[in-house]
Amino acid sequence: MNGLMMDMPLLISDLIRHADRHHGDTEIVSKRVEGDFHRYTYRDAHTRSRRLAKALAKLGVKMNDRVATLAWNGYRHFEIYYAVAGSGAVIHTINPRLFPEQVIYIANHAEDKVLFVDLTFVPLVEKVAASLKSVKHIVVMTDRAHMPTVTPASPMANALCYEDLIEAEDDKFEWPTFDEKTASCLCYTSGTTGNPKGVLYSHRSTMLHAYAAALPDALNLSAADAILPVVPMFHVNAWGLPYSCALMGAKLVFPGQHLDGKSLHDMFEQEKVTMSAGVPTVWLGLLNYMKEAKLKFSTLKSTVIGGSACPPAMIRTFQEEYGVKVLHAWGMTEMSPLGTVATFKGKHTGADKETKYAVQYKQGRVIFGVDMKIVDAEGKTLPNDGKAFGDLLVKGPWITNSYFKGEGGDPLRDGWFPTGDVATIDPDGYMQITDRSKDVIKSGGEWISSIDLENIAVAHPDIVEAAVIGVRHPKWDERPIVVAIKKPGAKVTKEDLLKFYEGKIAKWWMPDDVVFVDQLPHTATGKLSKLTLRGEMKDYKLPNT
Ligand code: AMP
Repeated sequence: MNGLMMDMPLLISDLIRHADRHHGDTEIVSKRVEGDFHRYTYRDAHTRSRRLAKALAKLGVKMNDRVATLAWNGYRHFEIYYAVAGSGAVIHTINPRLFPEQVIYIANHAEDKVLFVDLTFVPLVEKVAASLKSVKHIVVMTDRAHMPTVTPASPMANALCYEDLIEAEDDKFEWPTFDEKTASCLCYTSGTTGNPKGVLYSHRSTMLHAYAAALPDALNLSAADAILPVVPMFHVNAWGLPYSCALMGAKLVFPGQHLDGKSLHDMFEQEKVTMSAGVPTVWLGLLNYMKEAKLKFSTLKSTVIGGSACPPAMIRTFQEEYGVKVLHAWGMTEMSPLGTVATFKGKHTGADKETKYAVQYKQGRVIFGVDMKIVDAEGKTLPNDGKAFGDLLVKGPWITNSYFKGEGGDPLRDGWFPTGDVATIDPDGYMQITDRSKDVIKSGGEWISSIDLENIAVAHPDIVEAAVIGVRHPKWDERPIVVAIKKPGAKVTKEDLLKFYEGKIAKWWMPDDVVFVDQLPHTATGKLSKLTLRGEMKDYKLPNT
């Protein structure tokens, strides 16, 4: 017997319709590529998304067609999110930090029909346009007055103007209804080997993730919040915030390309931002700027930090010096992305400060919808004792079961998705990432966590950033070394840094060497690229070997 409930598919268009009807005057503020601030409301966004949906139909975009974007976080990108998915087509967000060849590869692989581009990325599109086989229309996300001037021979010569498209349509448009399993968004993940692989989200997975992400023990979002997603809309849908914020009716503040410490702090204060989300590197820039300029936050209450391990020192600084609660979170492109968040349980009420910090240093416990376990090399489940570490496997309705067009074959292991991360899980269910499986340092048959060693290095007051990699050793197989960037003018020596490790780790985890550098390589998603670093350090020899 079926339940007697209305049969309504979970569709992304319902989020913007809801935000319009019930939070219609809530603001969406964007710092534009053009340099000024743009302000409007959820109601305006809904109107313009419907006009854009009509324009897309006129450009020939049909159900399931892929529509690409090369864009920052901004209101036009937000409208495209809703217009494309709401129409039953698929929004393919391309990471503009990829190399041109990678952009060409993924746009062709996705068979993108239309490409929307922010003014900043017009030069990139000029480079790649001739190689984009399926793209029929390029739309520059600006108004007529700011359209780029190009030569008649330029591949941008026939580019359309975003505001012209909107201008030409009215908003008499009803969002279509279709199966909630329909694909809605496509995001490529750059594996370190092989071609990038497309993760294809559905309306259902996106909606379930949007609900779960908003929960109190997840990101704790509310209609009373003003949220500034620093995490880009071009990578894993800005951690789902453009959806979750519409679901809650929270004010949105989009920073565009203005991600330096001063711009962010100015926006936090001007727009009374209460909550934000970003990767550790962005916060590093902001915290350094604020320290130098002796500034505080007047409204910011919490920030989500994930994408790579949040160094304990950063959690303490945010909380103790600025009164901002850190939500340490973990996830991945294949998980929409949210898997775990480090929030407390009832048993932590009244716990001492260090016990609470120990919880927050971990990547957290699963939000309902995600299940996880750790296994050994044979696939045997390991105990949740907080000590055993193994390959982390996950399952859930917003987790990938295969890549777009079957790229890379079947990724699942007995119905579980292998994350490629190595982790421990404690008896309370808190998971801690010790490494990417390919970055783990294998020394004398045992594993050393590079993340633990990096966290200690960056807790040193003179160190800005550090990467720990394993280097070949004739006896121990691999030994860890620290590659670190000093603060400008700092006099810290190798010996000082190694001394700083004493008493904090087992003796055999002690790094064999410290190398100071001016820069560390990062991936297109802002993570330390240890693959590149290992390449750069290929001629390095350990002392005394
Ligand atoms: P991506 O698919 O580019 O978002 O990268 C996902 C990967 O980033 C994960 O598999 C982890 O290796 C890493 N990651 C994400 N969040 C964290 C975190 N809080 N701590 C450590 N690693 C993280």
